[in-house]
Amino acid sequence: MNVLVTGGAGYVGSHVLPELRRAGHNPVVFDNLSEGHRRAVADTPFIKGDLASDEQIADALARSRADAVMHFAARAYVGESVEKPQEYYFNNVAGALRLLRAMLSRGVKRLVFSSSCCIYGVPQTVPITEDFRIQPINPYGRTKAIVEDILSDYARAYGLRYASLRYFNASGAAADGSIGEDHDPETHLIPIAIQAALGRRDGVSVYGSDYPTPDGTCIRDYVHVLDLATAHVMALEALEDSPVQIFNLSTGQGHSVREVIQTVKQVAGRDFKVEEAPRRHGDAPALVGSSERIRAELGWQPRSSSLDEIITSAWRWHSAHPDGFQEEKG
Ligand code: UDP
Repeated sequence: MNVLVTGGAGYVGSHVLPELRRAGHNPVVFDNLSEGHRRAVADTPFIKGDLASDEQIADALARSRADAVMHFAARAYVGESVEKPQEYYFNNVAGALRLLRAMLSRGVKRLVFSSSCCIYGVPQTVPITEDFRIQPINPYGRTKAIVEDILSDYARAYGLRYASLRYFNASGAAADGSIGEDHDPETHLIPIAIQAALGRRDGVSVYGSDYPTPDGTCIRDYVHVLDLATAHVMALEALEDSPVQIFNLSTGQGHSVREVIQTVKQVAGRDFKVEEAPRRHGDAPALVGSSERIRAELGWQPRSSSLDEIITSAWRWHSAHPDGFQEEKG
């Protein structure tokens, strides 16, 4: 299939490109480079464009002769979404609506959508299954939940075939160390701890050590970005037979903040300062996802998502590229 990949220069999107090619598909990236990196795309055909422009979307669908779309392009900082909800609703919701309208007018009816476990809010129990209540607690999560509702309505009315993939904590880097995570500002625990190990930060703050968890710190379900990539390709190919797919992408295993920091120290072979800090607003004590549904329906399995493998691959990337992709923005 010819696959237009919006946000293909971003963290998850760029790791899906080689996987698509390996499976015999032809990805074309559509990205405005506001967050993404041209170098992360390597030799995949690239179209610079913005989901704010109907014309640019239509042009990209035409030039790529898209049979399907993978839609990653979205703003994805929870804290920022609280400060600037307007940006999030326009980018994430209006952007998706424009993309869908352009797809339908060209008869492109296959979409793989990048959703998030954020839509579950603060669940009462774990592991979370796909039928848990959708009750996001911040604008970012609400944009993802709204787009999921739109997709469901469009599937019924217009015959759209879609997969909505709800990621837990995307982490890790390409096996060959060529691409990895590069956010500015960086807010995620694993890259922050690695930067501390590299001496590029003073240390790591643990946001909250009085949670009702075994060591008092938050528990998350870290899933390797390469396992996410495989799931995207499997879901895309399954759209032929399963027109609506809603899946958690998770391992079912949770790790505490302290456990992550300890593993980074071990993998890096370096110590760094760790200090206790107040809770971060909006953090759920534990987010662990059941991925039984995608395992049963598509035969997906996380293969690289042990904490050790995730952190080893991330360490390889960050220690070889301490300044990330080193590119000008825009
Ligand atoms: N965290 C932390 N210190 C940091 C960054 C994150 O203690 O400098 C914690 C955060 O509160 C959460 C966990 O690490 O409990 C994972 O956070 P991250 O931002 O990586 O992912 P999230 O689960 O928020 O998507």
